[in-house]
Amino acid sequence: AGANLKGYAPICGGQEDFYYRRFVRRVQDCFWRPIASKPDAWFDVVERYSNDSNKTLQRTTKTSRCLNLGSYNYLGFAAADEYCTPRVIESLKKYSASTCSVRVDGGNTKLHVELEELVARFVGKPAAILFGMGYVTNSAIIPALIGKGGLIISDSLNHNSIVNGARGSGASVQVFQHNNPAHLEEVLREQIAGGQPRTHRRWKKIIVIVEGIYSMEGELCKLPEIVAVCKKYKAYTYLDEAHSIGAVGKTGRGVCELLGVDPADVDIMMGTFTKSFGSCGGYIAASKEIIDHLKHICPAHIYATSMSPPAVQQVISAIEVILGEDGSDRGAKKLAQIRENSNFFRSELEKMGFEVLGDNDSPVMPIMLYNPAKMPAFSRECLRQKVAIVTVSFPATPLLLARARICISASHSREDLIKGLEVISKVGDLVGIKYLPVEHEKTTS
Ligand code: PMP
Repeated sequence: AGANLKGYAPICGGQEDFYYRRFVRRVQDCFWRPIASKPDAWFDVVERYSNDSNKTLQRTTKTSRCLNLGSYNYLGFAAADEYCTPRVIESLKKYSASTCSVRVDGGNTKLHVELEELVARFVGKPAAILFGMGYVTNSAIIPALIGKGGLIISDSLNHNSIVNGARGSGASVQVFQHNNPAHLEEVLREQIAGGQPRTHRRWKKIIVIVEGIYSMEGELCKLPEIVAVCKKYKAYTYLDEAHSIGAVGKTGRGVCELLGVDPADVDIMMGTFTKSFGSCGGYIAASKEIIDHLKHICPAHIYATSMSPPAVQQVISAIEVILGEDGSDRGAKKLAQIRENSNFFRSELEKMGFEVLGDNDSPVMPIMLYNPAKMPAFSRECLRQKVAIVTVSFPATPLLLARARICISASHSREDLIKGLEVISKVGDLVGIKYLPVEHEKTTS
């Protein structure tokens, strides 16, 4: 079981995986499920989100309002917005909530075409294609790009939608150590016959899949190094920017902008609209040839109802604000704010002695709890003190690497962040999760 802790979602099963999963289930049965099955263990049913920009929650049972430190609402667009909301309402009147049709058959509105062009321009690729759901974008697109005779090399901590897409593609799958370009090169060298970097004799095609910001780690992808390795071995790069597009980079263009990578060097850019843009759906941006290929053969494009028009309009408006095309500097301010908020919160948590994963600039901030039995205690006590925080463990992480995952928004005010820090500090003492020396201990030791 211990050996398997290296990769959270073992991609290829096998006996070790079988025994690990069995072990985890037994542990869950002993102490976790009885707690988790009680109502009130985690979040309750949400009755409404408040209309202010930090999207506070309203709970049904106790009807108390909480500070939300768990939402992916990175730029605060998932709330009434002076520019976006009137346009979304207008699009609802004009097109209704659903097209009730697939793209190729009456579900292709002017808004869909406009958003595809806008996304391509925003991320710096020649073309883009939309899907109704981010999860489906990965799980349906990967099999449309590669199949039997191809090789997928996937980061060991990639999201479940990527794991499912890779499994469903019929391609061979290899996992490389999380965010480790040297290990990626080792795997590539091993997989290419005779160690010749320029020939793919064994494989029709090789795709390397990584994420911009890892959703459970808060870590930035080592994209420049990974792109260099892929170029050397002529492998395609596939970058999932669910948590980075709109959230990082001076103009919100994600990890390429932040880390100085030319988008032309990333072959397939995937992203979702459920985070920074306050909407739903997903996209793939790539060369015209790849996008045309997907439009012709991808079942999720041909057989699935197109994205809801108001959701499309929400993304168009949010990107316009980010680009300053609404005639204001609100977008630039939001981007500066999320960066300032994230770096402030992360450094304060570290000063308090919490073990925080991830990198500066990342709005995703996991605080290590380790023992999953601490999850309900941490979550409930924070909630009692009116701060809502998501806690995660197996199967999203290894069982004994449980964590509380904080997501920071540009729309959190300094008072919100200070309140959050005070509560987390108190609850952290109560639950016993300050594993690192606190600031004054560090300087005196
Ligand atoms: N990719 C990653 C890295 C994710 O974290 C998620 C979900 N948070 C998805 C894809 C799926 O996106 P969605 O929730 O928009 O369906």
